[in-house]
Amino acid sequence: MEKIEIIQDDIAKVKADAIVNAANESLLGGGGVDGAIHRGAGPELLVECRTLNGCSTGDAKVTKAYNLGASWVIHTVGPVWTGGNKNEDELLRSCYQKCFQRASELGITSIAFPAISTGAYRFPLERATCIALEETIAALKKFLKIQKVIFVCFGKNAFEAYQKILTEKNPI
Ligand code: ADP
Repeated sequence: MEKIEIIQDDIAKVKADAIVNAANESLLGGGGVDGAIHRGAGPELLVECRTLNGCSTGDAKVTKAYNLGASWVIHTVGPVWTGGNKNEDELLRSCYQKCFQRASELGITSIAFPAISTGAYRFPLERATCIALEETIAALKKFLKIQKVIFVCFGKNAFEAYQKILTEKNPI
């Protein structure tokens, strides 16, 4: 799975055709990944986001990336973790599926993801990481044009979880 790369960085600094934003349903800005992406992109991003009428949980919408080192931002809204009985797993799966679908529609070859829902939305990190990697492995089989998926981890904890779970999903 050399198409999957795991790095420790700020997603707003990553160069890829598209970077994924862990947004909220309003698409009008927030903290964490969303704050970093809007700061890096500049105010025009918010202007474009205002035209989108928000985004449902589990869906994804595309904008330009303005001053970021990417061509596109794919905004997706992860579920808020409330214990696991509110369809959180399937909604998180849907985020990854919709992002890959959008990437394929854009015809791009590289995409960078943050650990969607694992910050303010409190989804357990290892559980979210399993979903992220399962959906990525499936998408790479389906969308052959995508050559590189970068998981951008904020901190050592997330970095180590992604490395461990990738090894489990892909024993050499
Ligand atoms: P959510 O609301 O979907 O939980 P957050 O932005 O709060 O989104 O957090 C998602 C994950 O991204 C968390 O693991 C958090 O530590 C991480 N994170 C926060 N800022 C950044 C950043 N600038 N680059 C990459 N990851 C980040």
